Amino acid sequence: MRVQGSCHCGAVRVEVPDAPAWVAACNCSLCRKLAWRVAYYPPEQVRISGETVAYVWGDRMIGIHHCPVCGSGTHWQTLGEDFGKMGINARLLDGFDESAVEVRKVDNAD
Ligand SMILES: [Zn+2]
Repeated sequence: MRVQGSCHCGAVRVEVPDAPAWVAACNCSLCRKLAWRVAYYPPEQVRISGETVAYVWGDRMIGIHHCPVCGSGTHWQTLGEDFGKMGINARLLDGFDESAVEVRKVDNAD
């Protein structure tokens, strides 16, 4: 069952194929500040509507997107290389309950 979500102000809407069974708690310098919980999906299965702004840093492999109105982190996606996946900030998904899913620590320390 597809799951909807949105940023805080509602300008950006996301839709994914199903609720995540697990989410990543990444330890990169950005995620440590933003407290994202990332769910991975194949890009073709994700729908994102509304304007986002990409922040690009470090090795410049991915763009990390946020809503320009409310600042909510929304997703990341590749800038070139095909990873076969993109990351959605699971905190935006309707009904997301961190205590109800497995939280896996992902080591991207930089
Ligand atoms: Zn917003």
